[in-house]
Amino acid sequence: MAKTRIGIYGYGNLGRGVELACRQNEDLELTALFTRRDPASVQPLTAGVPVYAADDLAAHTGDVDVLVLCGGSARDLPEQTPACASLFNVVDSFDTHANIPAHFADVDVEAKAGGKVALISGGWDPGMFSLARLYATSILPEGHDYTFWGRGVSQGHSDAIRRIEGVADARQYTVPVPAALEAVRAGENPELTTRQKHTRECFVVAEEGADAAAIERAIVEMPNYFSDYDTTVTFVSQEELDRDHAGIPHGGSVIRSGVTGQDGENGHVVEYSLKLDSNPEFTGSVLAACARAVHRLSAEGQTGCKTLFDVPPAYLSPLSAEELRASML
Ligand code: NAP
Repeated sequence: MAKTRIGIYGYGNLGRGVELACRQNEDLELTALFTRRDPASVQPLTAGVPVYAADDLAAHTGDVDVLVLCGGSARDLPEQTPACASLFNVVDSFDTHANIPAHFADVDVEAKAGGKVALISGGWDPGMFSLARLYATSILPEGHDYTFWGRGVSQGHSDAIRRIEGVADARQYTVPVPAALEAVRAGENPELTTRQKHTRECFVVAEEGADAAAIERAIVEMPNYFSDYDTTVTFVSQEELDRDHAGIPHGGSVIRSGVTGQDGENGHVVEYSLKLDSNPEFTGSVLAACARAVHRLSAEGQTGCKTLFDVPPAYLSPLSAEELRASML
């Protein structure tokens, strides 16, 4: 198959991650970048890649085989993915789990109308973690599922802290509780509350003259975000935040603990674990593999919305079916 020509719509952390992933895959070629900002203000890492205004997307349908949507899940993707799915084969990383069925329905209508393939909710969670859950529960129907996130930066929680009065900047880490992880890995099937599974560590830069005690109270008592967790707040200078907390690491584990046998006498623990130095670069790498699969599904004549559940695993790989059987089976 010829190279897959990739377009990126939205050039933030994830857009750069997809760009870097294209460089590592000889069969993927980045041919266009689209942004809502002034294209002249956006400098791609890769020399020679044209940057176009998002308003001109429709004029470039012939330039790309798969458009990878790299906007935010909260406000961008619910609009952008359906709007693009009738024009391009698309991939997105929509990660608002509760709204995935509605997003799927919106995108499916448009993709079918345009005769295109759209893969939504690629990435690691949803994405690779979803596959890990599906494989493990299919194999071990009697059991319990656990997902632990971290240690890693939660952008949403960091943003929530930055909105508090007197806060200049902040980074929030989600951290699994080691004792809970150990109990799950030992097959003990513990019932765990939210508080027992994760803690939250906040590094906060206060504005000059701000009331630190009030900021700390506003954080630990914030409903939905922090009040259900044991939360620690550490005040640091902007220099310390920039020096020690500039990265965007993340990761976690999906664990299924199940039983087999006459009376469930044999236990089994399945774990899929990720330790990511860069969340957006890893997520971008998953989206790049998804784009390859979408190109193949489209070449077969498939249309409509898909998720990773609908993709044959071999379609993610640049290797042929013969090569995969010989080297990985
Ligand atoms: P981000 O850096 O905030 O970028 C989001 C959008 O903001 C970009 O597409 C870009 O669109 C715009 N933007 C970026 N930098 C800008 C700037 N300097 N000035 C103005 N606008 C700017 O977000 P991200 O870290 O790439 O994450 C995107 C989404 O990925 C998240 O919302 C999350 O839902 C999803 N995600 C999913 C997974 C998963 O596992 N499924 C994992 C990680 C992230 P324009 O170029 O059009 O302006």
